[in-house]
This record gives sequence, structure tokens and C-alpha cells, in this order.
Amino acid sequence: MDLHYTVRLKDADAHLLEVICRVAAPDPAGQRFSLPVWIPGSYLVREFARHVGRVAAECGGRPVAVTKLAKNVWACAPHDPHATDPAGAALSFRYEVYALDLSVRGAYFDRERAYFNGAAVLVRAHGHGEAPCTLELRPPAEALADADPAADWRVATAMPAVDTDARGFGVYRAGDYDELIDHPFEVGRFTTIRFRARGVPHEFVLSGRAEMDGERLGRDLARVCTEHLDLFGPPYPFARYLFLTLAVGEGYGGLEHRASTSLLCARDDLPRPGDKAMGDAYRGFLGLCSHEYFHAWNVKRIKPAAFSPYDLDAENYTRLLWAFEGITSYYDDLALVRAGLISEVSYLELLAQNITRVLRTPGRFVQSLEDASFDAWIKFYRADEDAPNSQVSYYAKGALVALALDLKLRAAGRGSLDEVMRALWARYGADAGGGVPEDGVERLASEVSGLDLREFFDLALRGTEDLPLGELFAPFGISVHLRPAESPSDKGGKAPKEPQEPAGRPRASLGVRTSAAPGGVRLTHVLRDGAAARAGLAAGDVVVAVNGLRAEGERLERQIAATPVGGRVRLHYFRRDELAEAEAVLPAAPEDTCHLCVEGDDGRARVLRRQWLRTVAPAG
Ligand code: ZN
Repeated sequence: MDLHYTVRLKDADAHLLEVICRVAAPDPAGQRFSLPVWIPGSYLVREFARHVGRVAAECGGRPVAVTKLAKNVWACAPHDPHATDPAGAALSFRYEVYALDLSVRGAYFDRERAYFNGAAVLVRAHGHGEAPCTLELRPPAEALADADPAADWRVATAMPAVDTDARGFGVYRAGDYDELIDHPFEVGRFTTIRFRARGVPHEFVLSGRAEMDGERLGRDLARVCTEHLDLFGPPYPFARYLFLTLAVGEGYGGLEHRASTSLLCARDDLPRPGDKAMGDAYRGFLGLCSHEYFHAWNVKRIKPAAFSPYDLDAENYTRLLWAFEGITSYYDDLALVRAGLISEVSYLELLAQNITRVLRTPGRFVQSLEDASFDAWIKFYRADEDAPNSQVSYYAKGALVALALDLKLRAAGRGSLDEVMRALWARYGADAGGGVPEDGVERLASEVSGLDLREFFDLALRGTEDLPLGELFAPFGISVHLRPAESPSDKGGKAPKEPQEPAGRPRASLGVRTSAAPGGVRLTHVLRDGAAARAGLAAGDVVVAVNGLRAEGERLERQIAATPVGGRVRLHYFRRDELAEAEAVLPAAPEDTCHLCVEGDDGRARVLRRQWLRTVAPAG
């Protein structure tokens, strides 16, 4: 092979991987190498090169000088064209990578396990990016100080193996650099659950300290996967699929790849042995698995033209992330109800929670979905204390747009989003090149439905007004209800607890989000035009007293709740180390908490619901 990578787990205690990239026919003018500045699927410039340590190169046993040309680009000195020994002509570029990033986006190595994404550790050899290559992963024996504590470490990856031992160490291959960096590796001691969906072998690989009912998880995941496989139909985009999961105390994350996904979850999210109930945490975890799996079609293969190919040296701008993250977010939970894993009531609760999330974001009146997508690099992924005031999530609102489009097409009897997705798959997925143009999703939705959807998309994607969800739900016999939050932990989705204290009296609101702080309550976010903002408070302030009494987490909440709408509260707070005082007039809490009800028993509504959710659950 002209291009070969060796990955050594070099030093667990220093958290160092060593990589050698060997180029058989390097550029005689000076071979260049670069490391991506971002990883596809996560739209933030992460500067992986900052973790690269010692760098060296050699050719025919002789060292070759390496010069840095940019933050992520290295150039080897010009190659001697008179080298007579063909073996000596190959260039080896060697470097260390510091790996202690527990996220699904980087690399990690300690005495417990190793994990890496190619984007974070494998350089691209310029001029050879299109070439097939091999990767040898060496066993970690020499990496650990003890005798051989890693003797039982194994390897899990979706990268096709060429010559590996029983544990998975050895040589793998990739068709090009794009594929090379799209198969993360998990190395260590893990549990593997195997199942098939439509005959395709799937593995769920669990690392970390966790107990789970693997049989149940395998059974449930098989149903989720079957839903997605059936939506797009054969031929399926992968011959084998892996869920690489790390369970920790607290954590959440997922990143999609072409034939696998990396997931980070809390160990309590997994179904415990003997537990039969569908708790919120497990429902959420299945939704995450479903989300990343759907991406194997939507964004890994149906991808924006702007990502075809990826420019890994800089931001890649697209206005389409609402389609790739929003539509995926819509289908993740939808697949759970369609697969019969959750009830219609449970699904409507999840939808209402998402509506609530969007309604609690005043930034939706400031930023359109297209702008949210374009600016993901500097806004969504760098959310700060002003984010709720100035941004809208292309996940949350994008999923609502997908829902709205689906309901609209179904109610009009003009197909469904399922058909739009299949049309996208046929035109831009599979082996089609070029990617989806910026207006491609809109045009295809109009083509499939025969409807003029310009007004809808102008409002949904380029506008900042709310979607008419009440109107869209009506033909399905579903009504939308809004009320103020009952407590800071009220995420919406459920009908209000009865009776509403005292006799439905409207609640007052300070217009803040908070976290506990020593001696008081820190304002993490101050909502624009809310009572706190109007009283001059700012994010970062620590409220220490309300009406002369010490402010503490829930007590602050009770103190605000006890104040009648229009009433005043005196606040003492610290800004930096300076004590200040303000008086806030409390307006009524906004009606930003949603729940959905199935109303009546209209036959057509029932049919529409059944076609949409594929459930036969009774109304309720
Ligand atoms: Zn996603």
C-alpha cells in the first residue's frame, strides 16, 4: 500500500498515542501533512493539532527536517530525487498525540481504555487523500507499566479488517482519507451485544463501569434500527453497524459515522437488569441511538453540497443544518413510537417538551433557522450567557419544522416527510455525488408533494415567527395547550398537576435561569425584557437576598412564586465583588410550557394519526 498508518498506544500514564504515516511515493518537492481543524458532525473549529507533540520524519533511515507551515500543516524537507534504493524513498512522518478527551469527538488513553477518532489523530498526506490506505493498530502491551494488564484488551471499530488477531489488533483498510477518519476505534475491555436488523449484523459495544440488561437493549435497538432500515429500504448503506458507547456517571453525547456511532451516556440511562419499565432516561438514550443511526443516511450520505467534499482546514458553511440535525431529531423519537417502544402519549410528551424548549428561547425571534445553521461555528457551538436571547437551536426548531412539514403534507393528502426523505436518498444518497444544494430539500419537498411550499419555508427557515402548530395539529385531532412552568424542573409535556395552587392564580416570573452558588444563586442567563433584566441584573450576578432574606436555590423560586403578579421584590446581589441592590417588578410567567392532547374521536383524525405514528393506541 502506498499509504500506511501505524497507531501505537504509546504511554497510558502520559496519555500519548504515537502515529506514523508512511508515504511510499512522497512529494519530491516536500511532502505536506495536515490534521483536520474540525471533526465532521460537530461544527466547531477544535484545533486538534494543539494536541500534537513531538514530530519527526525520516527517509531511508535518515532524518528529514520538518517545518510547520500553518497551525495544522507540516512540510517535510524536499525529497532527494536521486535516491536509488526504492525502499529508501518512502517517507515516515511520526508524531505523538496527547489523548485525554473523554468526549465522542477526540482521543483518549489511560490504563482503562483507549479511544480515538481519526480526525483528531491521523494526518492527511497531501496529494494522497484520495488513495486507499492501511492502518495498523498495535497492541498496548508495552504501553503500561505493569506486566501486561492490557492482555485482555480488544478492539471495536467498523473499519474493515485486513489482517487482525483474535482481539482485533492488526491491519485495517480504508478506501480514502475521508473513510479513514470516519471509523472511530474503541480499545479496552468492553461488553458486546450482538443483534441483527433486516439481516444486517449490529453490535452494541459498552465500555465503562455499568450494568445493563443487554438482551433488552439489543431487542429494543433492533426494532429502532429496523424502522430506519425500512424507511429508506434496501440496499442498506452499510454491511455492519456499531454503537460504541461509553457509560460514565454524568454525560451525554453522540457523533455519527458512516457505519458506527460514538455515544457517551450516564450509566443510569441504560436499562438495568430486571427493570422492565420505559423510564425517561432510557427513552432518552434510545432516542440518542436512533438519532445517530438515522444520520447514517441523513448527513453521512445525503449531505450538503458544502460538505462534498469536507474542507477540514476551515469552517464549512451551510444553511441546511436544520435539515440534517432537525429532520434527524424529528425521526429519532418518531422511530420509537413507530417501533412500538413508546406509546402515543409518551411520544406526544416528547414532542411537547421540544415545543417547550423552543418557546423558552426568546432568541427564536432574533435568529432564523438558516442563520442558526450558517453561524453554528461561532454561535450554537459557542453558546454563551446570551444564547437564549439571541439564538435558536437548529435541532429543536429544526425538528419542529420537520414535524410541521410532515403534518402539512399528510393533512393535504400529498405524501409525507417519509417520501421526501426517500426522494432525497434516491437523488443525493447512495452513490450520487455532489451533495444537496442549499435549496435542494425545499425543492424536493415541493416536487414530491406537488405543493407550493415557498411561503411555508420562508416562514419556517428564513422567518422568526412561530410556526402555526395548533393549526397543523388540528386535522390529527391533537390540541396544543400552553401554561406557565410549574417549577424550574418543569420541562413540559405533561398536563398541569391538579389542583393548581391557589385557584389558578397566575405565577410571577423573574425571567432568569439559575445555578447554585456559594452564598446565593447565580444568574446563568437573564432573559431579555424579563423582570431581572429590567431591574438591571446581568448574567453572572449572584443574588444573595430577596426581600432581606437569604436567597437559596429553591427558596428563591418559592419567594418569587409567592409574589403576586405585578408585585415587587427587593434583590441584593453581588456583581463581581461589589454588593448591589435592585427592585424588580414581576410580570406573569410566560405561557411557555406545552402539552398536547388527543381530543375527540373523529375518524379521519384517527386515520391520519395512525398513518403518521403507526399506532393503534386509544385516544388519551
Ligand atoms: Zn445529530
